[in-house]
Amino acid sequence: MDINPRHTLHPEIRSSVRELCRGFDSAYWQKVEAAGGYPEEFVAALTQAGWLAALIPEAFGGAGLSLLEASVILEEINRSGANSGACHAQMYIMGTVLRHGSEAQKRRYLPALARGELRLQSFAVTEPTTGTDTTSTATVAVRDGDRYLVSGQKVWISRMRHTDLMLLLARTTPRAEVAKKTEGLSVFLVDLRGAGPGLTVRPIRNMVNHETNEVFFDNFPVPAENLIGEAGQGLRYILDGMNAERILIAAECIGDGFWFLDKARKYAASRTVFQRPIGQNQGVQFPIARAYANLLAADLMRYEAATQFDRGAACGAAANTAKLLAADASWESANVCLQTHGGFGFAAEYDVERKFRETRLYQVAPVSTNLILAYLAEHVLQLPRSF
Ligand SMILES: Cc1cc2nc3c(=O)[nH]c(=O)nc-3n(C[C@H](O)[C@H](O)[C@H](O)COP(=O)(O)OP(=O)(O)OC[C@H]3O[C@@H](n4cnc5c(N)ncnc54)[C@H](O)[C@@H]3O)c2cc1C
Repeated sequence: MDINPRHTLHPEIRSSVRELCRGFDSAYWQKVEAAGGYPEEFVAALTQAGWLAALIPEAFGGAGLSLLEASVILEEINRSGANSGACHAQMYIMGTVLRHGSEAQKRRYLPALARGELRLQSFAVTEPTTGTDTTSTATVAVRDGDRYLVSGQKVWISRMRHTDLMLLLARTTPRAEVAKKTEGLSVFLVDLRGAGPGLTVRPIRNMVNHETNEVFFDNFPVPAENLIGEAGQGLRYILDGMNAERILIAAECIGDGFWFLDKARKYAASRTVFQRPIGQNQGVQFPIARAYANLLAADLMRYEAATQFDRGAACGAAANTAKLLAADASWESANVCLQTHGGFGFAAEYDVERKFRETRLYQVAPVSTNLILAYLAEHVLQLPRSF
């Protein structure tokens, strides 16, 4: 029995992704986790099957799928017990190149990404001193003939050791010289292959097995032809891609939620204490049922947001709401699943504690819950801007 009432939607995508994920079972993920490694084989299999090129238009060799279909891919990956965090960025970063890159950039990079010959897995925005306040970005890119020299520091830059290309946000005009603080920032497509001096990458040990790093730039050269779109308009390009990112992450949370609740209901039905299944106790049943109801509601919002996006509608409110509700629902499901398993929930072999840590991330990254609430308060409810 499938507890996802929408499992009949996009059946071909679901069954193909499930089939691929079956080759990467619990033992595989435990091995990767224990080694603190990167799931190279899993990402390679997804790439070879073309799933990471889902959003690249057919004209550039991709599958040309809708965002809703792409979100089903990530949902099924997470639902299988795997973690899309190893590779999801390629789906939403690529949109910046597609929407704002020049024809030459698109022809140069997108077909190679679609063929799996290039990886675009890193997105460098966050900085240690400015955090969520992106308009205060302190990393600078100074024009020097036919190149820019980048200096500054980024933090939490994921998958840098498993990518060829990285999108970088840097200030090209000092904040004091622009009319609006949102101007003067630019986006670059940085080729990391053979990157020379001026770039230092330091892994950050963290709560999840997420390949993420501190990055230091010291007059690091980036060819001027790698500037995306117009100089100074980079923040707009980044924000433009965020609705897609929010919806895709929401789908991953939905996948996590179903994984947790499947695991919880099966354990509750089979674990016998006081001569009866623990799931016979309403004290155990009800939290699982409540988490399920919240997950279904969040999933509806995710479908609504993805449909709006694919229609080309202004979907900021829906995308943010979907991310908020889905992250909350997956976290509730994770907590319920852990509680249902009692002490065994803490044992690595059940995978619950790993997925528990992984899904917790989505309360904070790629956008924190408070920032979503601030968006809804200001842009939808017309409350005074808080920052
Ligand atoms: C595992 C991991 C991977 C990541 N990968 C990437 C990546 O690949 N690329 C990248 O650029 N970044 C990445 N990040 C960074 C992530 O996007 C940020 O951590 C996140 O956006 C929050 O920023 P911060 O950590 O600087 O928190 P801060 O901005 O310091 O905020 C701390 C807390 O205060 C709250 N807060 C701040 N200001 C306000 C306000 N005005 N009102 C209410 N609450 C507020 C926030 O909601 C948050 O809970 C990653 C982070 C992690 C943990």
